[in-house]
Amino acid sequence: IHSNAWCVHYRPELEAKYVRRLTITTELKRALASNQSELSMVYQPKIDLSTMKVCSMEALIRWNNETLGFVPPDEFITIAEQAGLIEQVTTWVMQRTIADLSYFRQKGYGFTVAMNLSTQDIQNKPLLDKLVSILTDAALSPDALELEITESDLVADASLAIENLNALTSRGFHFAIDDFGTGYSSLAYLKNLPVDTIKIDKSFILSLATDDNDKQIVHTVLGLATAFDLKVVAEGVEDEMSLNILKEWGCDIAQGYFISRPLAKDALEEWLENSPL
Ligand code: C2E
Ligand code: CA
Ligand code: CA
Ligand code: CA
Repeated sequence: IHSNAWCVHYRPELEAKYVRRLTITTELKRALASNQSELSMVYQPKIDLSTMKVCSMEALIRWNNETLGFVPPDEFITIAEQAGLIEQVTTWVMQRTIADLSYFRQKGYGFTVAMNLSTQDIQNKPLLDKLVSILTDAALSPDALELEITESDLVADASLAIENLNALTSRGFHFAIDDFGTGYSSLAYLKNLPVDTIKIDKSFILSLATDDNDKQIVHTVLGLATAFDLKVVAEGVEDEMSLNILKEWGCDIAQGYFISRPLAKDALEEWLENSPL
């Protein structure tokens, strides 16, 4: 009776998705194994709103592939997790980011670097041990880094993740909750976790200057964060008015295109030399 099931269910758009996923998996494996620099890191400055000085950089991965062109990190990170490749990607990110941070420290810059970790990463004890050893080899202390994780990371397998977070926190690492506001956790819940910073998701910040709803949400989050003694970063600041609102409301740190786009190491160095910040 189901002899024509394939025909009934066949959808070309699903096949296209499947083929793209397969190509990404194959090409990413190859990129990780080869020395060609398909993968690179860019860094986006964050400024301390009380001093208007650069305080940190978020490290963001980029992938340019010959066949696929530019592949958005959101897309290939998700596929890397499903294909068992995320450990290799994160290891590469850690090595490159810490090497670049070390370079900037030697140049005399004091900013910290924020690295993104995925759900599987914070459950992977050997990977986290590797982070500690890369940092130690570079003669950098854990407070040179911030680790960004999302709320969902703490729901997936809460006990193991939280145990690993606690272990790293006691060694001096700091964690920030990324994309805050898009998940389910409340600030009260975060209070019990080894997290000292939240990053308000850019969806609430992009139209802050004009959207009354966003204003209300951001104002409320800032008030509660102060009560819970959490530092707040606003990401996705694209205009001066939003920056001023955030500053006025006591937001600690801002990141976004208005300050700078994410920049490759050389461009960042140039930006740092010429920036009035
Ligand atoms: P995210 O961690 O939330 O990173 C912030 C994203 O917002 C970045 O996108 C950044 O380029 C973008 N952004 C920054 N300022 C603005 C702005 O003013 N306006 C707008 N419209 N966008 C802005 P990107 O680089 O495409 O990264 C997307 C996501 O991919 C990241 O979201 C993160 O979840 C993931 N990702 C990127 N690099 C890494 C990495 O090295 N490791 C892991 N695990 N995930 C990464
Ligand atoms: Ca992030
Ligand atoms: Ca984010
Ligand atoms: Ca994100």
